[in-house]
Amino acid sequence: MAEGPKCAACGSPDLRPHLRVAGDMGDEGLIPTTDRFGTALSDIVRCASCGHMQLARMPSDAELESGYAVAASDDYVAEEAGQRETARRMLARIEAHALRRGAILDLGCWVGFLLAEARERGWREPVGIEPSGFASAYARDRLALDVRTDDLFTVPLPEHHFDAVVLGDVIEHLPHPGEALDRIAALLGPGGVAWFALPDAGSRVARVLAARWWSVIPTHVQYFTRGSITTLLERHGFTVLEIATAPKAFSVEYYLSRLEGYSKPTGRALVRGARSLGVAERMWAPDFRDRMMVIARR
Ligand SMILES: [Zn+2]
Repeated sequence: MAEGPKCAACGSPDLRPHLRVAGDMGDEGLIPTTDRFGTALSDIVRCASCGHMQLARMPSDAELESGYAVAASDDYVAEEAGQRETARRMLARIEAHALRRGAILDLGCWVGFLLAEARERGWREPVGIEPSGFASAYARDRLALDVRTDDLFTVPLPEHHFDAVVLGDVIEHLPHPGEALDRIAALLGPGGVAWFALPDAGSRVARVLAARWWSVIPTHVQYFTRGSITTLLERHGFTVLEIATAPKAFSVEYYLSRLEGYSKPTGRALVRGARSLGVAERMWAPDFRDRMMVIARR
């Protein structure tokens, strides 16, 4: 008998149908921001044992890699102020647990705003890996960061070296998140901490919106809850130090324009309204409590 799919968090084979959201990734490809809420690469199943949710059929690594390599989005550059403010808040949490501001590795660093902020705060060795050619070139050329264009989990890096390894909005994209944790464990030095930011599929907003939740998008293959990410980390030898909500700061205009994913006329009208009121550029970090950060030590 062929071995069927198992829960990526706890390993249970008891996966049950949960959300019917199968679609295709469309012409946009695997861009990190999308208006195509409520569409995934296959239907979503839920683990009867731990509550973790994941795609019923995982895309192949090749499918994902080819998409990420060409990913480009102007949104995340235009929203630099918000990205940096979010990064500072997250770094403060990491610094509360890290032994020192030494070597910090950002796996999937995108254009590098978190690393740039870490450098500002005295981290001695900020290093980033980013598969997107556009984003990694931005980090190197515009921010003068040590960022390599490469695969996150096969790139050669010094082992037992890093004081912090961070993955912001990455683990929910990985078909094999447990293998990623083993790699991170090998990269962390003594007392080093791992930090993750990811959607919280167990949050009230996620449960109420279900298939219409804004984190149900074609590039997400895992839907962790606080319980299931803890289960996965513990199975790979990590101890969770802190779990908290992790709201993102964006301009008011960005948030309102996201509403176009639900209704284009409404989103556009709200953006026009915000511009006319002069508040479109204002920073806003509403906490929908559906995005979490997890800090763990190996
Ligand atoms: Zn499970």
